[in-house]
Amino acid sequence: MQRSYFDASRPIAALATVPGESALAVIRCAGPGAVDLVAGLFSRPAALGSARSMSLVHGELVDPSDGAAVDEILAAVFLSPDGPIGEDGVELYCHGSPAVIRKALSLLEGAGFAPALPGEFTFRAFLHGKTDLVKAEAVQELVRAGSEGARVEALRRLEGGLSRALASVREAIVDVLAEVEARLDYAEDDDSPAGGLDPDSLQRIRDRVALLAASYVSGRLYERGARAIVAGRPNAGKSSLFNLLVREDRSIVATDPGTTRDWIETAIELGGLPVRLVDTAGLREAEGEIEAEGVSRSRRLVEESEAVIYVVDGCGGLSAADVAFLESRPDSLCVWNKVDAPSCAEAPAGFLRTSAATGEGLSALAEALRERIRPRFGLDESALSRSVAEGDIRIASERQKRLLDEAVAALDSCRGELDARAPLDALILDLREAADSLGEITGEIASKEVLEAVFSRFCLGK
Ligand code: GDP
Repeated sequence: MQRSYFDASRPIAALATVPGESALAVIRCAGPGAVDLVAGLFSRPAALGSARSMSLVHGELVDPSDGAAVDEILAAVFLSPDGPIGEDGVELYCHGSPAVIRKALSLLEGAGFAPALPGEFTFRAFLHGKTDLVKAEAVQELVRAGSEGARVEALRRLEGGLSRALASVREAIVDVLAEVEARLDYAEDDDSPAGGLDPDSLQRIRDRVALLAASYVSGRLYERGARAIVAGRPNAGKSSLFNLLVREDRSIVATDPGTTRDWIETAIELGGLPVRLVDTAGLREAEGEIEAEGVSRSRRLVEESEAVIYVVDGCGGLSAADVAFLESRPDSLCVWNKVDAPSCAEAPAGFLRTSAATGEGLSALAEALRERIRPRFGLDESALSRSVAEGDIRIASERQKRLLDEAVAALDSCRGELDARAPLDALILDLREAADSLGEITGEIASKEVLEAVFSRFCLGK
């Protein structure tokens, strides 16, 4: 049977870096007796055992069965309540060889460390009040951040921006709750049950919660990147423009040459916004082979994209197929390519003029694409003008979104009851439900099952 996250009586150990060959590997150990247990596997046990918290000790990891050295290592010591977890712990910086890692983990297990569950270190930090659930989730988001935008967003949540916004709005709800509960005591003397309770302030609280809930779409986009597809007829210059757009960004994260797909997707950044740029050039071969499937695949790709760059060969002019496509996707960015060629025709109105040969119009195309996807990230003017304290804080997980929606529904119901002059008891139930939903987001009142479900999605060693 799997150990429970709540069994914190055992020390735990896990590799925190990627398994495989690397310059260094980090193995984390934490829990009761962790320092003494590691000292039993160390060439300088007294130095390790008496090390100050947050200090480094140099020595060798040794096999206690024969005293043979396993690796030359640095050990970082954390003593409770210091350190990231709030428990005694040692981080071992070994050489990143699979043989060293295997041997070290087996010695640690032999010494009494249980292999850590995914996210168990962060879970223990949560138990010791070192982090809340939102910040713990942000750590995982930061680990997975694939773009500059995602990194900034995750770091903001890790630094407590979202936790503070949630705490502040929850406090406002609890204040209203306290007021209603106080009124309940005098209700018999009061002919209007909720008299004096300000519906507008309740509405303002509700709107703050709704604003956080609405930030989910953009939060997710930051994590995944907006998909922009380069479409057009064969030879229009799609691949050439794609390559130039990719080169515009100097911080390419990953290029997937499409070993299992027939399109190319590259993660780029346009002014801090993460974009997954898709070149569909390869789809044409697929269409030749299995036409129906290929066509439906490209259609699906277009449908699933946040933006379409539609490239027309300016030398060939606008064809019936181009017109049909643009009618089906009128929000496409229309590009008139090959303007350098003498035979290039005049660009129709609304088309951006580009040349993949000379680079003309490329920056304008990149800027137009950025403008096209910017509103999807919640960065439109109206979002900016709504700039309440939490206006620029985004949520990133479905769990957070569901709980915020529940809080909005409870506050809507509360407002309805206030308007209908319902008994105070009903208002109290709704306000409690809203406050509890928000408390569950930060983990203040989360159940054992919720906590286990959240942490089990984390990386090993985190
Ligand atoms: P795709 O099939 O739409 O991906 O088109 P390609 O990018 O492969 O380009 C098709 C042909 O047009 C290639 O021979 C390119 O060199 C040429 N081409 C692409 N863009 C331009 C351009 O802006 N000017 C000129 N003169 N040739 C271009």
